[in-house]
Order: sequence, then structure tokens, then C-alpha cells
Amino acid sequence: MSTDWDVAVVGAGVAGLSAARVAAGAGLRVVAYDRMAPGGQLVNLTSVHDHPAPGETADSAGLVSRLVAEAQAAGVVMAFDEVTRVRSGTPVRLEAGAGAVTAQVVVVATGLGPGRLGLPGEEELVGRGISTCAGCDGPLFRGRAVAVVGDDEWTAEEALELAEVASAVTVLVPGEPRWDADRARRLAAAERVEVLPGVRVTALRGEGVLAAVVVETAGGPRELAVEGLFTYVGRRGPAGLVEEVPADAAGRLPAEGVGAAAGTVLVAGDARSGAVQSVAAAIVDGTAAGEAAVAARRAAAGPAPGGSASAAAPWLRVVDPTYGVPADEADGAVPEGGGADWTEVALFSNSKPNATELLRGVGDRLQEHWGLAELGFASKPNASAAADKDVIDWLAQRYKVVLVAVGD
Ligand SMILES: Cc1cc2nc3c(=O)[nH]c(=O)nc-3n(C[C@H](O)[C@H](O)[C@H](O)COP(=O)(O)OP(=O)(O)OC[C@H]3O[C@@H](n4cnc5c(N)ncnc54)[C@H](O)[C@@H]3O)c2cc1C
Repeated sequence: MSTDWDVAVVGAGVAGLSAARVAAGAGLRVVAYDRMAPGGQLVNLTSVHDHPAPGETADSAGLVSRLVAEAQAAGVVMAFDEVTRVRSGTPVRLEAGAGAVTAQVVVVATGLGPGRLGLPGEEELVGRGISTCAGCDGPLFRGRAVAVVGDDEWTAEEALELAEVASAVTVLVPGEPRWDADRARRLAAAERVEVLPGVRVTALRGEGVLAAVVVETAGGPRELAVEGLFTYVGRRGPAGLVEEVPADAAGRLPAEGVGAAAGTVLVAGDARSGAVQSVAAAIVDGTAAGEAAVAARRAAAGPAPGGSASAAAPWLRVVDPTYGVPADEADGAVPEGGGADWTEVALFSNSKPNATELLRGVGDRLQEHWGLAELGFASKPNASAAADKDVIDWLAQRYKVVLVAVGD
């Protein structure tokens, strides 16, 4: 896999997949990292509520399949790996489990971490009574009492889903519910559901598995015997992931990087400060980040032939190390493995004199025909070897059209 990308997306949830699809669709070389499976939060949902429009419901697995298929059809390369650090600069450097890569633009779309209360003993009870996924773990609590902590519309939907299996569902709302009147009505009508506003969980009880929670109510402390606790508060963004970019109180990052990350690190979806947490909003956000990444690359590349800034310059490159890489590109500017920006057309030869001569002639004619100011060069260290899979992959990741001449 290439280690040098136009755009790297961190997180292949709906926001990341949308950003990646847009950038790849514009001809950029895009990699999308995910430390788990693509789809993000949607993987945990049976149905997506209020999607594609308010009041409607979409099948979650079907939506994930479509987003992944569209991204891959646009040319996005998926990498199943965790990005542990994003180091700002030109290019941006990403550290991942399988090694470091560079990218001209990075879109951070990591979403938020799981809901946590921040109580002693909580981590030990995750998977032993504490969960953040009604669709996955709800059936384990068939006929048992559970509590749900949260205040938003998705908490209400999770509680309603749990009410179909649990013997009792107590919804503990830290302040006042934020869900709409329809959800309030459905919760009130649901058998076995009780909503307690203005309630804070202060302690967890249980040896090895959860047995009860202690809550602080207006009337004083109270202990609730529950075997399951579903937590949807305290979800945190990717604070500290991007070097020198400060996070807000919830660990989320600003939409655009600051300092050394300005213009090259973008943040989309739930991970962004101030984001509305919904699938529709994440798709819009991701799409906008993808468009911003394309605009950043075009601005950096300068105007293309004909005066429009629609492609990276130069537009035509000769890929042939032995023909001669111009001195100003020979060191540093053309890093190991090639350093070509996205270019429409490449003329590739295996550096045998007759093939090189032929392509140089074609290049001169095309340069004249298209009125190009310059003919670009790019190196590929082993381009003089046979045009094997590695060389073809290298070319395909960089160019839309490749004219090949192989001499002997
Ligand atoms: C319980 C619950 C129910 C919901 N129900 C609905 C609903 O019915 N309808 C609706 O519209 N919205 C719903 N939402 C909100 C919606 O799911 C989110 O707003 C949306 O999925 C956010 O998308 P995202 O791409 O920003 O993040 P996510 O979907 O969270 O995706 C982030 C991805 O980044 C990956 N990742 C994180 N860190 C790294 C890293 N360092 N390296 C590599 N990969 C990384 C993760 O593995 C994940 O795949 C719900 C949310 C919750 C919590």
C-alpha cells in the first residue's frame, strides 16, 4: 500500500466515508483508516431513526453497505488500522499500527468514544452489565431490569428498544430530557418504562457483575437494583489525536486545524466541535470536508492548463528515472516511492532508450497540443524493471491515464 496520499481520512463512519468518497471522486488518492469495521456507530444500530428524513427509518446495515460501496467505487483504499497520532506539517504525518504514512490533507472523522459516567469500577463492569449498545446487548437482558442514562433522542430510542425485552427500563436523565414530544409520548405509553429526570448516578454496585446503581434524586439518594446499565452520556471526542490542535470540553476538535495544522487538517462528523449528532448531519459534514480537501489540493496545485484550477500541475509527467529527473525535483522534492501530485496523464517507460525516446516525443507533442507550460517528471525507483504489479499499482494510484512504452 502507498505511504504517500493526497487525502487520509481517520475514521470510516458515515462522515469519513462521505469525505473519502468526495475526495476520491475528484481524482485524489485517498486512504480511509478505521480501527474497527467501516460504518462507525451505525454498526451498533439496527435501525437509523429520522433518516433519510425526520420521522423515517432506514436499515442500518443497508446504509453502511451503500456508503462503503460508493467510497470504494470512487477509488478509496480502506486501511483497517488505528491512527494513534496526527503530526501537523506539509505533508501531514499519520502514525498507525502498521507504520507511518503522509498525506497532503487529513480529515479527522473519529466520532465520539463510548458513553462513560466516570465512576469508580466502571471500566471493570463494561461487558459485565454496562453497555452502550441496546441492539447488540439488549437480548442478554431479556426479563431483567435495566437502567439507561442519557437525555437525547437516541437515548429515548435505545430505551424503547430495550423495553421490548427487559422486565423494566428506568431512564435516568441527568437534567431535563431533550427528546421531542413524539418520543416523550412513546416513552410514556411504553409499558415497563419509567423516566426519572434530574437524576445523577453516583455509584455502581456489584461484585464482578453489575447488581445495582446508586442515584442522587431531588428526594435524596436511592438504590436501583438493575443488572444492565446503558450509558449514553460522557462520550468524548479525539482530544490529543492531532498535535497542537486544542480540544473543547468534550474532547472534540475545531472544524479546521489551527497553527501548523491550518488548511491541512479538517474535522468532520461527531468529532467536530458543535456537531449535531445525527447520521444526516454527519453525511453533510463529511461531504463538506471532502469538498474542502479537494479545494485545498487544487489551491496548492495552482492553475491547470487552460487557466482553471481543476487539476494538479503539471498536468503531464514523464515517469522515467533514467531519462532524468530535473535537478530541483531530484532531491527531497521527489521522495522515495515517487512524489507526484495527482496528475491527469503520465507517460511511462521502462527507461530503455528506444521507449524513452518514443515517449519523450509523444510528451513534446502533447505539451504543445495542450499548451502546457511545462512537462513534469516523477521518479519511480524501480521503473526500469519490468512493468510488474507494483509498478502498475504505483502508476494507477497517481494517474488517470498512463501511456506505456516498454523497450528492450
Ligand atoms: C446509541 C446511539 C444511537 C444513535 N441513533 C441514531 C439514529 O437512529 N439516527 C441518527 O441519525 N443518528 C443516530 N445516532 C447518531 C449517529 O450515529 C452519529 O451522529 C453518526 O454515526 C456519527 O458519524 P461519524 O462518522 O461522525 O462517527 P462514527 O459513526 O462514530 O464513526 C467514527 C469511526 O472512526 C473510527 N475511529 C475512531 N478513532 C479512530 C482512530 N484513532 N483510528 C482509526 N479509526 C478510528 C471508529 O472505529 C468509527 O468507525 C446515534 C448515536 C448513538 C450513540
